[in-house]
Amino acid sequence: MPGNRTPMTPQTKLFIGGAFVDALDGATIATLNPHDNSPIADVAEAKAADVDRAVEAAAKAFPAWSAMAAMDRGRLLLKLADAIEADAETLARLESLDTGHPLRDTRGLDVPRTAVTYRYFGGMADKFEGTVVPVEAGFLNYVLREPVGVVGQIVPWNFPLMFTSWKMGPALAAGCTVVLKPSELTPLSTLRIAELMRDVGFPAGVVNIVPGYGATAGQRLVDHPEVRKIAFTGSTAIGRSVVRGSAGNLKKVQLELGGKGANIVFDDANLAAAVNGAAFAIFHNQGQACIAGSRLLLHEKIADEFLDRFLKLARSIRLGDPLAEGTEMGPLTSRMHQQRVLDYCAVAREEGGEILTGGRAPDDPALSKGCYVEPTVVRADPGSRVCREEVFGPFVTVSTFKTDEEALAIANGTEYGLGGGLWTSNLQRAHRFAKAMISGMVWVNCYKRVNPGSPFGGVHASGYGREMGFEAMREYTSPKSIWVNVDAQLPPYYRR
Ligand code: NAD
Repeated sequence: MPGNRTPMTPQTKLFIGGAFVDALDGATIATLNPHDNSPIADVAEAKAADVDRAVEAAAKAFPAWSAMAAMDRGRLLLKLADAIEADAETLARLESLDTGHPLRDTRGLDVPRTAVTYRYFGGMADKFEGTVVPVEAGFLNYVLREPVGVVGQIVPWNFPLMFTSWKMGPALAAGCTVVLKPSELTPLSTLRIAELMRDVGFPAGVVNIVPGYGATAGQRLVDHPEVRKIAFTGSTAIGRSVVRGSAGNLKKVQLELGGKGANIVFDDANLAAAVNGAAFAIFHNQGQACIAGSRLLLHEKIADEFLDRFLKLARSIRLGDPLAEGTEMGPLTSRMHQQRVLDYCAVAREEGGEILTGGRAPDDPALSKGCYVEPTVVRADPGSRVCREEVFGPFVTVSTFKTDEEALAIANGTEYGLGGGLWTSNLQRAHRFAKAMISGMVWVNCYKRVNPGSPFGGVHASGYGREMGFEAMREYTSPKSIWVNVDAQLPPYYRR
């Protein structure tokens, strides 16, 4: 651990069958600090044979875990939520170190939201009920919700702590057992959660964590014949390959994929609130959010004033070491991703877009070894690549509109449909747009609100299935319909 940057030595082994173990072939992956690209730790790298071990452990744990009283499963999740709160500072520092999120966000958002999600699903475990269907007289028909079995969960690097809670919370509450593959770039906080799970008493094998590369560990999880469901969060391209890979045993698939969120500011909006909200929508977590408000659509009457204030705010955002107090924006999570975002800045220029601010790595020598990109605002044609493709960085396009119809056509003009926002004081317009936007989530006079009770997910190229709330519990269970003849006289079908 260089320079005592965290108060703890992170766990670096695979978590299989309740124990931390090396990979069978002893392979490791170095995880880097995106602030300066220095190594943080070497983490065991799971390959196919390790994933097989993890699936075996999860399959062995499934009968007892799924048969356990739901209240007792819930109690363990509640204990985990408490343990996360007790460990909050360590988790926040670990997440900041590994991902580049500023400490103020990991302390204020990622860690509390993670605890709240496990607590929500801990409470949900014994409240998620089956149904009784009012069928014809003489019969009782009831529907059980049965856990689907061993689930494979694959998460990206942008919100590792939160996303593992969104996935493991409902799966465990429903009675499934889990093999989760964190991103090869950011495994540390997930391994810490595994330690906490072990410490609060989750039975061995109920949760298994296998850091590794997508093409090897991820692919094996997708292909594995004993995995009954894959819950995947990541890019649309890999999402498509997950669907193809699932065909072998026809496993269930749930996909949380990319987005290109439209954020529409009408001429009757509260501009101060809209400017602040639009900056949060794109610059929080360096824009590395599937639901980022990455396309700003401004009514032409307010465009100049809005942009004037928005650019001032963007230029004033304090970039710096994510572990330093006062940092408002950290580095992107990897060198490769930083380059990808800078490449999009070049594309914007080639397409005739006007870079209004940013568009480059900062020239501050203190940040020169890190994966930083300045907050970037680009005036661009709505049909251009940078307005259609997901950049996934602190990069927002701006275009203007004259009419509501024009705004809606631009907003709905991409292949994605994940999240979008609108800023207006006209109630009728707000509801009309919220309904008309092709999007799994719409925020009115706010942006990027999430809550464990509220369904999260998208349509079209943003995927299918939902995290959170009762919807998530349905995703991790299958209905079983049971018919009982209570007093029906069945006429003989074969008259002999
Ligand atoms: P990615 O698709 O490259 O990787 C996501 C995960 O999939 C990683 O763990 C990776 O190792 C694994 N993976 C890669 N190839 C695989 C394969 N062939 N088989 C199985 N697993 C494989 O995405 P990323 O770059 O890590 O994350 C950024 C993307 O995630 C963006 O497109 C973003 O929009 C999306 N995302 C979506 C949501 C959502 O909820 N909709 C949330 C966050 C991020």
